[in-house]
Amino acid sequence: MHPTYPGTKQNSPGLAAARPLCAVGQRSLATQVVATCFRTARIHGKDSIPERPKSVKMPLAAQLYHLQTLDSRTAALEAELASLDDGSTLQAQLEEAGGAESAAQADLHEKQSRSRIMELELQSTIGKVKKIETDLYSGRVGNPKELQAMDADIQMLTRQRGRTEEDVLNLMEQIEQLLEDTRRLEKEREAREQALAAHLETYRRRQEELKSELETTRAERETFAAQLDPDLLRRYERLRGRKEGVAVVKILSNGICGGCHFKLPGQLVTRVQEEDVVLTCEECGRILYGGP
Ligand SMILES: [Zn+2]
Repeated sequence: MHPTYPGTKQNSPGLAAARPLCAVGQRSLATQVVATCFRTARIHGKDSIPERPKSVKMPLAAQLYHLQTLDSRTAALEAELASLDDGSTLQAQLEEAGGAESAAQADLHEKQSRSRIMELELQSTIGKVKKIETDLYSGRVGNPKELQAMDADIQMLTRQRGRTEEDVLNLMEQIEQLLEDTRRLEKEREAREQALAAHLETYRRRQEELKSELETTRAERETFAAQLDPDLLRRYERLRGRKEGVAVVKILSNGICGGCHFKLPGQLVTRVQEEDVVLTCEECGRILYGGP
């Protein structure tokens, strides 16, 4: 009986092209291929080899390599999804800018309020001086001591007025600077708001793209894996668990293992490239794929 391969039928044209050796039965290489077929047969028992959907017509190593490609893609998508910047840094910068703006505004309002109070004090002092001056020059007061005291009051109030005027001027300068600061901080905060909004739009779009691609890739992987020989799949999974997610590697053009860059024996490379076998790198133990 001719050996049956998972996912293939003996008379399939695709199989004939992919596995001419088994079909023509040339002795030297065919013996090795048959040995592979028998290993599979022994695992399942000849009659229990699962019938594979016609869609999987590729050689075993190619099946595993395709599976590996899907798994690597899934891992890359998951990694990118996990590393996406959700805008928290920009959010923190925005909060900082908002805080600085609020602080400047609070300072501005406090100084504006203080300035109004000082203006009132100034008016009050001016009023007091005027009143004393009116009394002083009215001629109603004749007592020299009282006149002297009134003059002293005027001088004291005038000094007080001078100090208040100076304070008001200082305050006005500070208010002017604060008005400038709050305008600048408002612009900075608005710019950060815009930057965050733009970033979040990009982030959410990319997140959706990744989630969608991840879903598609996972579904494709599941469908494909369900078509593979369970023992082969288990072997692949075990190896993948041990080899940081990479169980199948390509043989590079110069006969070097794509996993560990070990120079592979020529005979091994030839077998992987020409036969439908699952062979591993002697150095890193990964399954070798000799296709494009
Ligand atoms: Zn290797």
